[in-house]
Amino acid sequence: MKFTRRQFLRISAGAFGTMVAADATTGMELDMGSARATKTQGSGTQLVLLGTGTPQPDPDRSGPATAVVVNGSAYLVDFGPGVVRRAAAAFRDKGVRALEPINLRVVFVTHLHSDHTAGYPDLILTPWVMGRQVALEVYGPKGIKSMTEHILTAYQEDIKIRTDGMEHASKEGYKVNTHEIHAGVVYKDALVTVTAFPTKHGEWQETYGYRFDTADRSIVISGDTTPTQATIDACHGCDILLHEALTMKFLARPGRPNPQGFDIRAYAAKYHTTTVQLADLANKAKPGLLILYHNPITLRPALYPFASTPEDLLQEIKSAGYNGKVVVGRDLDIY
Ligand SMILES: [Zn+2]
Ligand SMILES: [Zn+2]
Repeated sequence: MKFTRRQFLRISAGAFGTMVAADATTGMELDMGSARATKTQGSGTQLVLLGTGTPQPDPDRSGPATAVVVNGSAYLVDFGPGVVRRAAAAFRDKGVRALEPINLRVVFVTHLHSDHTAGYPDLILTPWVMGRQVALEVYGPKGIKSMTEHILTAYQEDIKIRTDGMEHASKEGYKVNTHEIHAGVVYKDALVTVTAFPTKHGEWQETYGYRFDTADRSIVISGDTTPTQATIDACHGCDILLHEALTMKFLARPGRPNPQGFDIRAYAAKYHTTTVQLADLANKAKPGLLILYHNPITLRPALYPFASTPEDLLQEIKSAGYNGKVVVGRDLDIY
């Protein structure tokens, strides 16, 4: 199933059909040629990496959160811990005005795992306290409505004090309009069309990746998933594919912290994508640029000598036969 961009935009809900796991492929031709990111800051569509981390509370990498910025409007995908402060950093340090927290208004969530949603109360409340006057619009799988209602209930005393007390906070800006979605086009305005596609993430019943189509770019964000045909079809020569990946080094390390004692390799096979699998997927999806995120790596190898590094990630994916452009995403990178 292959689509041109125009055809892709016509896909109706559910058209991706059954998910098919891509086979891991090894032994492909080794290509260690260098890849360079093409940064296009300042004009048209920008992809801003707000958080590239994992559940680990790594001070160098915030929880998963990504922004697509189109002509001054921001669209977020996921709200891991730290999302609002990273958005503020993108505004203050990188000049992305659309990410000034008060401007955060439209959000898509891939799934409800806590590492992707622990920043939700922050995203609802902080921009409102800073002056947002309109409700947040949130799109995501079944369950996002209930999570939202519970968060608002948990903060009802705060909301009451701020609206009825001396702060005179907006009586609209803390509200959330939730949209429980299905695969297909889930959002469209003058700047962007957003298409959700099903991903496959262990026991979760409903998880999504998202494709953004704007006047100048197509960007696909995987969320957490095993390799699926739906992701390949969603990209199909897209400009950027932002995809998760576990390193083989991480999975092979015998002494990795795992106090719960679960079988990390069996878990990975059901929930995530390895570098080897991603090399195969990306060779089929053919993105202009593959960006890796949500990886179990450290940016301080001197402190964690057994941990995977960004260099390990690139080495593994290239050794597995991917010869397209590939980079390791870091917080506050702009592409
Ligand atoms: Zn997850
Ligand atoms: Zn995750």
